Amino acid sequence: LRGVVALDGPSGTGKSTVSRRLAAELGAAYLDTGAMYRAVTLAVLRAGVDPADAVEVARVARAARLTMGTDPLAPGVRLDELGVEQEVRGPEVTGAVSAVSAVPEVRELLVAAQRELISAALQEPGGVVVEGRDIGTVVVPDAGLKVYLTASADARALRRTKQDSSEGREGDLRATHADVQRRDALDSGRKVAPLRRADDALELDTTELDVAGVLEQLHKLVES
Ligand code: C5P
Repeated sequence: LRGVVALDGPSGTGKSTVSRRLAAELGAAYLDTGAMYRAVTLAVLRAGVDPADAVEVARVARAARLTMGTDPLAPGVRLDELGVEQEVRGPEVTGAVSAVSAVPEVRELLVAAQRELISAALQEPGGVVVEGRDIGTVVVPDAGLKVYLTASADARALRRTKQDSSEGREGDLRATHADVQRRDALDSGRKVAPLRRADDALELDTTELDVAGVLEQLHKLVES
């Protein structure tokens, strides 16, 4: 599918920052699929539902009124009409999101919503940059460009900690390291749409690169 750049990979690879900036620089739309799983998780927590209770989680997901913007300068995720951008990044949601995103019905609902958002974005010139864990494997298997970002576990934990402190959340390297490992194990080990590189995705190791360096590589790939 021409016009779609699929960026997948584990957390802390710099995926969100570079995806958003790449979209802005290309004049493309931007879809943060992780924010959608986070918003459903927030709805689950607000409803007082146990994230491990798949039946109840699916019920909350069906009822949640979730909207997602695709402007890279102001994506904006809304739950029941209210912006929840800050809340979905908090530790409660981060701690529960892997359990919620492992529920097959949640994935079915969100993948369908993501495909609609992508089709709508493709009506405009400029294309769309989509980031997540299963974009190249499930959501848009025929994306024009698929990139799988990786980085060492240490680099990823360090980036997450810096991002947390810069956004006003408490940043503790050791706890973040453990959280990154835990989430990767859950995301890679789940039955439905596990985190993995699509066979035809190009792998880009960002351990030694800063944001500008990753963007430079991505621009080259888009142009090639
Ligand atoms: O990218 P982000 O860290 O915001 O994603 C949060 C969580 O949402 C991931 O740890 C994963 O469990 C889930 N996710 C997913 N599939 C996607 C995007 C995110 O399962 N396409």
